Order: sequence, then C-alpha cells, then structure tokens
Amino acid sequence: MKRIWIAGPCAAETREQVLETARQLVEQSRLASIKLDYYRAGAWKVRSTPDSFTGAGENALPWLEEVQETWQVPVCVEVMNARQVELCAKHDIHTVWVGARTAVNPTEVQQIADAVRHSGFTVIVKNPVIPDLKLWIGNIERFLKADARQVMAVHRGFPDAQENVYRNAPVWQIPIDLKVRMPELPILCDPSHLCGQVRWIPEVAQIAMNYGFDGLMTECHCTPQQALSDAEQQMTPMQWAEMITGLDLRNDTPDLSLVKQRAKLENIDNQLSELLYQRMLISDEIADIKRKNHIAVVQPQQWQQVVKRYLKHPEDSAYQEFIDKFLELLHQTSIKRQQ
Ligand code: PEP
Ligand code: MN
Repeated sequence: MKRIWIAGPCAAETREQVLETARQLVEQSRLASIKLDYYRAGAWKVRSTPDSFTGAGENALPWLEEVQETWQVPVCVEVMNARQVELCAKHDIHTVWVGARTAVNPTEVQQIADAVRHSGFTVIVKNPVIPDLKLWIGNIERFLKADARQVMAVHRGFPDAQENVYRNAPVWQIPIDLKVRMPELPILCDPSHLCGQVRWIPEVAQIAMNYGFDGLMTECHCTPQQALSDAEQQMTPMQWAEMITGLDLRNDTPDLSLVKQRAKLENIDNQLSELLYQRMLISDEIADIKRKNHIAVVQPQQWQQVVKRYLKHPEDSAYQEFIDKFLELLHQTSIKRQQ
C-alpha cells in the first residue's frame, strides 16, 4: 500500500523560511528514503483572533513556485475562495486544500469547486470542524463532480468542548465510516492540528497508520520556536523524517476489526496515562493548599466521594475488583506525595 506524505510549514512566512524548510525536508527525505509527495504551506491563514498572523498572501506564491522548480516537489496551498484558486493556477500550483473552517460552508466550497472545474487540480478536503460526515462527503462530492484530477480527504480532528489532551480530539469512527463509504478515496491524517503539540504527534500518527490511513499531512518548520502560527505543533524536518521512518506501516490486514480495537486501546492508554499524571499534579497542588491552611492530609469523606465516581459498573465484578485495587494504590500514592 502506497502512503502519501505531505509536509511543510503551517504558514508561508518569508521566502527564506519557505525555501529553507523545503530544502531540509528534501534533504531529510533523501537521507531516509522517504518520498515527499507534496510540500504544504498556507499562504492565506484563517485565524481565530484578529491580530494573529494571516500569512504572506499572494506574495508567498512565487516562493512556493520556486520550491516546485528547485526540487520538483508539488506544492499545495489552502484556498478559501475562487480568486485564490486562480492565483494558484497563475503560479503553477495545481494542488489546493479546503480547510476545516471553510469546509463548514457548502456555498464557499461550491464556489471553490466551480473554480477548479476541468482544470486538472488535485483537491484535499479536510474534515469540517463539526463532526458531520454527511457534510464532509458532500464537500468531497462537489470536487468529484467538478472533475478534480484527484480528491483526497484529511482527518484533522474536531474541537472538543470537554477537557482533552489533544487540541482537536480525533473521532476515528468518522474517517473510518468515510473509508467504508468511499473505499477508493485516499484518507490522510493531519496529526499536527489534531495534537496541537509535537510530543503527541508520533503516537497519533502511528494510530492513524494502524487504522489504515493512506498518509499524513504534517506541519514542519525549519525553526519551529520562531513560527508565526502553530509554533507548538510544528516539527523540524529531522523530527518528521525520524517519525516517518519509525512508523510501523501495516499492509492491508485481513483482520481489520482486531486492528481497530487495538488502535482504540492505544488511543485510550495514551490519554489515560497523561490524565493520571495530570491528576497527580492537581493532588500535589491540593497538598500545598492543605499545608498552608493546616488541613489534615487524610480526608475520609472526600475520599468516599472519589470512590463513588468509580462505582459506575457494579454489575461487572471483575472490573470492580480491578478498580478497588487501583483506588487503593491511588489513595496510598496521593497520601505519600502529600506528606
Ligand atoms: C492548516 O492545515 O493549515 C489548517 C489551518 O488546518 P485546519 O483547517 O485543519 O485547521
Ligand atoms: Mn497550522
């Protein structure tokens, strides 16, 4: 199974940054024998707050053209309207993507589809920020009907009102359902916007590969700390190449259900381990408060409240036995740390 690797900065900031990031990505790909299928960069950035960096705009297109000419790697750019599609074509850029925010507006997506009609564009369609499979499929169909040369989808997760370890929680079931509905459609994962922080990216990328995703779109920057947008989630090209080389790439497996369940567990374990650590840190803060206010470390009533939260499945005695042991350990550890 051929995988598709897309990498590049969140935003095109300067000519130097665009070319240097591309140079390093090309070099790292060569050293690691990875085919860099597309170089990504946002020329126009949709940002949540008005004073944020919104990309170099049209000025970035000649820099990206230079990347294509120098290294023969096709470039892809996010577009939000028909005019941007035309500008890309003028600069010999024929791969564009629709971002998660634009993807919620079918009128705008249709205008982009009309602009790429019969013009040989490859279009990458990110999931809309709302978890609506019908809307995502509808957007994809608009580009298929517009005779796009190729259409690909990208799962970049969904904003979650709940506290979550990741910036945009993955809802793996949605891209899996998409794959079932459209088996020919390549579906990639964007672990950068999904995780929001570099440290989670390799494990989420592995989960995506385990599910059978067709590739990754990853944000890379030559100097991530200095990035003008999404600094925390951009990898260096070297980190990216290490991650790609380290991936356990499975072939199409005959036992998909097993792979799906294991990937779910992997996801839960990764979150659970971080949540447990965060719980411990809060418990440390409670210890400080108790110390300052001369409150006793052991508060039996409070602990009973905690125990109650874990009595959700009394019918499952084996599970309850495990929980009892777990709670005992949790309580002992908290008390020890608070002393
Ligand atoms: C991006 O890829 O640069 C981007 C803005 O992503 P998303 O639309 O997924 O937020
Ligand atoms: Mn970004």
